[in-house]
Amino acid sequence: MVARTIPVDPFDLVIFGATGDLARRKILPSLYRRRQAGQMPEGARVIGAARSKMTRTAYQKSIREALEEFVPEAERTAATVKAFVDCIDYVAVDVTGDGGWQELCGKLRPDVVRAFYLSVAPSLFGTIAEKLAESGLATPDSRIVVEKPLGHDLASAQELNAKLTRHFDEQQIYRIDHYLGKETVQNLMALRFANALFEPLWNAQHIDHVQITVAESIGVEGRGGYYDKSGAMRDMVQNHIMQLLCLTAMEPPARFEPDSVRDEKLKVIRALDPIHVDDTVRGQYRGNGSAGYLEHVENPDSKTESYVALKVQISNWRWAGTPFYLRTGKKLRSRLSEIAVIFKEVPHSIFPEVSNRKGNALIIRLQPDEGITLRMTIKDPGPGGMRLREVPLDMTFADALGDEFDIPDAYERLVMDVIRGNQTLFMRGDEVEAAWAWTDALLAEWQDSPDRPQSYDPGGSGPDDALALLHRDGRRWRDIPG
Ligand code: NAP
Repeated sequence: MVARTIPVDPFDLVIFGATGDLARRKILPSLYRRRQAGQMPEGARVIGAARSKMTRTAYQKSIREALEEFVPEAERTAATVKAFVDCIDYVAVDVTGDGGWQELCGKLRPDVVRAFYLSVAPSLFGTIAEKLAESGLATPDSRIVVEKPLGHDLASAQELNAKLTRHFDEQQIYRIDHYLGKETVQNLMALRFANALFEPLWNAQHIDHVQITVAESIGVEGRGGYYDKSGAMRDMVQNHIMQLLCLTAMEPPARFEPDSVRDEKLKVIRALDPIHVDDTVRGQYRGNGSAGYLEHVENPDSKTESYVALKVQISNWRWAGTPFYLRTGKKLRSRLSEIAVIFKEVPHSIFPEVSNRKGNALIIRLQPDEGITLRMTIKDPGPGGMRLREVPLDMTFADALGDEFDIPDAYERLVMDVIRGNQTLFMRGDEVEAAWAWTDALLAEWQDSPDRPQSYDPGGSGPDDALALLHRDGRRWRDIPG
């Protein structure tokens, strides 16, 4: 099955930071793949902008190289690559100065969709917004795209929002959380709101608890400087995991439209109980044959967490009494992201000796292979009494939808949504701020606490205290497979 595509209008997409890692590794390869899918209309143009002085031809050459590195060979021919790079232009702009802006103005057309992707350090977001306005480029229909980190705490997030909204309306601002562009995350909404089966059970009466896991097998190698100022809570929980929590817990929106969906997500964040430090576990991986966390960062006494586990309560009618357990960490056994919805056991088992111990579970897997699994209990085949066993009803998309179905990268979806003007999968400013307000309270408690993060072995499932966090509630984490 080949993915159906919705055409988009001609556009000028300006990428600030066009020579950087994100542009080369994600944004431009995504645009190339969308072009291959027939979604880049005639007249679509990408204009790279960065400090480096180089000609259009030199920039096109560097993008050809980026495609060779980041797009599989089977998806490229000399002709398709040429056709793509022919759409690309380049302007040297140091965004902190005045040079280059006039040239950029001269390249933009008045009658096509105009978007500015700020693939630069967040400290430059405000400056670029300001310069775009001064140059007359921040037209009412233009769009601006920014990405994490969207602040370091509530105050800095508010400051950033104020800088952006000084020149752009909220309807023009696209805050990317690339988890929202993942096919499975959107499928979570389809699963909940396009099937009659789950929604009646989707509440505290039937769901025992929810586990959200984002496990990484890599450490902080090379990013120690950045990471040590951030930690797992800021880097993963405040944004990606919070978004997964919201989509799992939110009420059905009235419509699949940006503000309907975002209003419901915001209500979830606002319904989160303040989190108490006793319901949290922080960890730091130790060295064990390889360098530990502290050897990658400057501060040898750093208390920054490379792992966090939280027990979170949502105080509303739907979820009162059903905890959401969240965990994320580096240097764990494998790379795994999933949402596991664990249902309550049957109210009365008629099979006393072989009762259904684990219960039904719905697993929504984001990585490594996107898919959905429903864990069911059936009778073990064969004679010899009534033995029960658990079987997965598996819908790994690649298997279920056939080889031809190609799961697009999150950025493919999100960049095209910017051009389409669809903000449904982007975070609104008030959502980001509400998430920071909740996160800040815990970070402050940790700051005041004399305790250090518990150290844990690389290649495992995290600190022992994280296991205890669930054990004390009579539950256990799902395995992180090896
Ligand atoms: P990067 O590799 O360091 O690239 C930075 C880019 O910014 C370069 O193109 C650089 O241009 C340009 N730049 C720096 N100062 C400039 C100035 N004064 N005027 C104009 N251009 C300037 O960074 P990155 O990894 O691509 O990340 C970009 C942003 O995306 C950051 O906010 C990052 O946090 C965020 N992000 C990145 C990733 C990722 O996977 N890389 C993932 C999520 C979020 P020159 O090379 O010409 O100096």
